[in-house]
Amino acid sequence: MKIYKFGGTSLGNPERMHKVVKIITGDDAPKVVVLSAISGTTDTLYEITTHHKTGNSPLCRKLLDDLENFFADYIKNLYSSTSSKEKASNYLIDWMNDIRKLTESSYSIDSENEVVSKGELISTWLFHLLLEEKEINGSLLAALEFMTLDENKEPEIEHIQTILIKVIQENVLQEKIIFVTQGFICRNYIGEIDNLGRGGSDYTASLIGAGIGAEEIQIWTDIDGIHNNDPREVVNTRPISRLTFNEAAELAYFGAKILHPSTILPARQHDIPVKLKSTLNPEAEGTLITRAKRDTPCVVKAIAAKDGIIAIKIRSSRMLMAYGFLRKVFEIFEKYKTPIDMITTSEVAVSLTIDNPEHLNDLVAELEYFGETEVDDAQSIICIVGNRIIEENGVIYRIFNALQEIPVRMISYGGSKNNISVLVSSPDKKQALNALHDRLFIRDTQYEMSKN
Ligand code: ASP
Ligand code: MG
Repeated sequence: MKIYKFGGTSLGNPERMHKVVKIITGDDAPKVVVLSAISGTTDTLYEITTHHKTGNSPLCRKLLDDLENFFADYIKNLYSSTSSKEKASNYLIDWMNDIRKLTESSYSIDSENEVVSKGELISTWLFHLLLEEKEINGSLLAALEFMTLDENKEPEIEHIQTILIKVIQENVLQEKIIFVTQGFICRNYIGEIDNLGRGGSDYTASLIGAGIGAEEIQIWTDIDGIHNNDPREVVNTRPISRLTFNEAAELAYFGAKILHPSTILPARQHDIPVKLKSTLNPEAEGTLITRAKRDTPCVVKAIAAKDGIIAIKIRSSRMLMAYGFLRKVFEIFEKYKTPIDMITTSEVAVSLTIDNPEHLNDLVAELEYFGETEVDDAQSIICIVGNRIIEENGVIYRIFNALQEIPVRMISYGGSKNNISVLVSSPDKKQALNALHDRLFIRDTQYEMSKN
């Protein structure tokens, strides 16, 4: 069994939805098809809940009308038979009624979660009807019946597994081999509708894959895989054909937006390969993410950057030879629920970075107690990812060499074998990405495997 997950842009218009049908019916293998909401739907639903919350009913009503028109149009162009069009129009009426009712009663986080869950409900319903119209034997599985979270908001893999395997077995007996289900949405431990966070459909696909022990998890988007550098900043980037789970996890965090960061974990735990493919170019090889093979050589695979970073330096003579100093510093960040990304220390100072400025003033006020505190905003983390890149002497030399013209604010080396990170001021980012690209991938390909 393989899992196929399609993102919102892959369903962005009726032709694209037809294309998705073509992709999943390319062979007779059984598969679970996880769909996001059609692009734009979840954004609009969140906007609706924002106006619902602030009591702005005219704007709320306008957005609801726009949404209804969008889907009426989509339905008109999606199906060929009058009976499918009628069925879908009736579904749309009920769907809109539900959302309108929710936004007319008083706002709560539960009503918000229910409203935003509607995006995946309609995309999968329309898709299932399209399969029916094409006389393809598919089965629509309700994610709200198997995708559950525990008290700590962690997915209940065993529960997911038990229910899914049972439902799938029953269906296979009826010769149904295509299972369509919703990404993103789930139920929390008290049974209310909840979700896995923005972009969470990738995570759904990975959880289902882990639950049923799938052979492969395919994530279909509009990009032909993870690129070896940021295509918005550097020309001549190209998709990476293979990554390890560890490398992909580093890249997912550092802004390679193509994959939800939590997706890798269940796949890695259950050793299920993840493949990234493009619906716009299905023939392209894409990126395959698997467990690292033993004894693979040093390979630099990708360069990625993350903007909006704030560097904070705390200098204190109290730090010298003292124990417990860092703990006290970290506790302040914990108190304000602000994650720390990079960290480097000297004997009398510590520099660290955050990407969430929400509590910056409070953090600085409390840090001042420990020592002189300096803040630099508009920073970018650039990370160089690959296999065993810190075990090979020449790599760091080449990185420094590439960056000789660029002021580097922090360096993180040795945290993992797969990652070297440097912090530069954001206006220098483009130059840094290009210089590294040139040095590591173009001028000197010694550390880049030709086919990897
Ligand atoms: N529809 C949800 C979102 O827009 C989940 C997803 O697309 O993965 O965030
Ligand atoms: Mg996505």
